[in-house]
Amino acid sequence: MIVLRDVTVREAAQKSLLDAGAALTLRLEENQRLQQKLEQQAFQDHLTGLFNRRHASTVIPPVLSSASENAPVSLIIVDLDYFKQVNDRYGHDVGDNVLSSFAKILSDSLKGAEFAFRYGGEEFLIVLPATARDSALERCAQWRHELATLAIAELGDVALSFSAGIAIAPQAGTSLLECTKTADIALYRSKISGRNKDTVWGEHLDGMDREGPADGHGARTAPSGRKAMLP
Ligand code: GH3
Ligand code: MG
Ligand code: MG
Repeated sequence: MIVLRDVTVREAAQKSLLDAGAALTLRLEENQRLQQKLEQQAFQDHLTGLFNRRHASTVIPPVLSSASENAPVSLIIVDLDYFKQVNDRYGHDVGDNVLSSFAKILSDSLKGAEFAFRYGGEEFLIVLPATARDSALERCAQWRHELATLAIAELGDVALSFSAGIAIAPQAGTSLLECTKTADIALYRSKISGRNKDTVWGEHLDGMDREGPADGHGARTAPSGRKAMLP
């Protein structure tokens, strides 16, 4: 009887040890998942899934410093036009949907070592290595078309638009600060000259704007059958 009780106690102890081991393994796996999630959150924007602004300062500098006249790097800041109106008229959820849909337009279009970041509320930063002015403008035109024809039921036949500022490294600089500053100046130019257009930094300073329909980019009219978003 005594021997039997000893074995039962030992078996019970072994079982609880195994249970504790299994529980510990589960805990460790859960911790690893949490850690991975936290690491991801540190560089990812939760709404759009794009890289966040903080991560831009890690990823972009080496790309810009490799820019040369033969292999220029385009840094583009895109800001959605009259986005506050989208929230005000259709609600914040529709606004969120627009942001994540536009982020998908961008990320679906990225190739090779190209990157897109959510740079602010309705601002996006895109870095395109080995991309000169004309190709950068073509990419903007493609994104613009996809945004304007985005299928979001609540928006009906409203066409959304964006304005962009483009800095081409090394001409506009080779540091993140220089390029974001010059792209921002160009973006401002796009905004004040009517929105829904692209400005390349350096091309507007002497009054030779290359924006809008003059060179076929940044069309000011919405795709047929759609109304442009206005303030
Ligand atoms: P502009 O053409 O001059 O760029 O005008 P705008 O209305 O786009 O710019 P403004 O800076 O006046 O408004 C930006 C709006 O973006 C205000 C803010 O509530 C909204 N916003 C910022 N982040 C988010 C977000 O995560 N979700 C939603 N739904 N709205 C956001
Ligand atoms: Mg903005
Ligand atoms: Mg805006």
